[in-house]
Amino acid sequence: MTQQDPGLETAGRLDNIGVSKIMQIGARARELKAAGRPVIVLGAGEPDFPTPDNVKAEAIAAIEGDDSHYTPLDGTPELKQAVRQKFARENDLEFDIDQITVSCGAKQVIFNAFMATLEQGDEVIVPTPSWASYEDMVGICGARVIPVAGRPDRGFVIDAADLEQAITPNTRWLLINSPGNPSGAVYTRDDYIPILEVLKKYPRVWLLADDIYEHIVYDGVEFATPARIAPELRGRILTVNGVSKAYAMTGWRIGYAAGPSALIRAMAVVQSQSTSCPSSISQAASVEALNGPQDYLAARRQSFAERRDLVVEALNAIDGIECPSPKGAFYTYASCAGLIGRQTPAGDRIGSDTDFCRLLLEQGDVAVVPGSAFGLSLYFRISYATSIDDLREAMARLSRFVEELT
Ligand code: PLP
Repeated sequence: MTQQDPGLETAGRLDNIGVSKIMQIGARARELKAAGRPVIVLGAGEPDFPTPDNVKAEAIAAIEGDDSHYTPLDGTPELKQAVRQKFARENDLEFDIDQITVSCGAKQVIFNAFMATLEQGDEVIVPTPSWASYEDMVGICGARVIPVAGRPDRGFVIDAADLEQAITPNTRWLLINSPGNPSGAVYTRDDYIPILEVLKKYPRVWLLADDIYEHIVYDGVEFATPARIAPELRGRILTVNGVSKAYAMTGWRIGYAAGPSALIRAMAVVQSQSTSCPSSISQAASVEALNGPQDYLAARRQSFAERRDLVVEALNAIDGIECPSPKGAFYTYASCAGLIGRQTPAGDRIGSDTDFCRLLLEQGDVAVVPGSAFGLSLYFRISYATSIDDLREAMARLSRFVEELT
């Protein structure tokens, strides 16, 4: 890392921000693979499907049509219109064009929103476990994350009373990610209602809804988004989404959001001085993703559901591991609390979820991510966005690894 290079003084804003544990595990897994070990990595935060052919074709047409120039700052009119139609069609939400923004991934959308609004000392409430990047993005802006623990018995959804307790005069945002990474938590309409009631009492607190996994929900659960549930709060809700997870387009880097036009304008200022605009080709492809056929989404969802069931069943059959069945996204978040204190045949003791994941990788050839990376231990995250064969083999290895513990 540059922080350790002699002669380089990095900015103080990077002091507590580092390479995530997920990346560290990925790097170690790659090292082991390069050394010839048959490691199976269950860490990917992306669908294993290809980008749909109709979307690829639009990108190729854009290249051949010389659509190779800077676009308007925060999105082409065509893509903003497609986003607008998406919100109307799928979420029953009407937005004006000046309430829509497009960035290089949902990640940049969120970053822009925080850069545009957070001051030193501000607080952002985030239910845990949560995607690790939120904390770092908030930290770069000089603010800090206030975690509120999701209730394991409620599928990691937070209680409204816990939320209210965490609100202070410094709170600027509540960020809810549903379906959630890493737990698969899904906030239903009924889950949101008491939370939104709390927010009504605190007019200074805005709500960022990270809906990036919207299309990946199971068991007939209906996806819900706060702007639809509480129209009276729409003046302070930013609804974030993107094409990465729904359309298997993580590398195309297109995310979008809808919210109050003043916020959207401020976010465009941030974007204008960082990436200027998202890729013209990716935007053309994303118009097709949003406007084109949507029928394959259900088939992909079904495929994820089958893999979820395989993993949940296999994990719950292992003594010392407990795994609730998540209602969304493509992750399981299982407890390894029952393994703490046990030893591997090599004599290594498992003292934490980080130990468990390290030893499973080093001695069991399976890479998973410790809950500590997401702010809630003693758990580990599996991404099941990988082939059924790899999942079966990984579950067999995991089971063997645990059986051999004493
Ligand atoms: N939000 C969550 C919860 C995620 O897990 C991710 C990616 O892993 C993102 C946002 C970022 O998505 P994008 O690829 O659109 O930047």
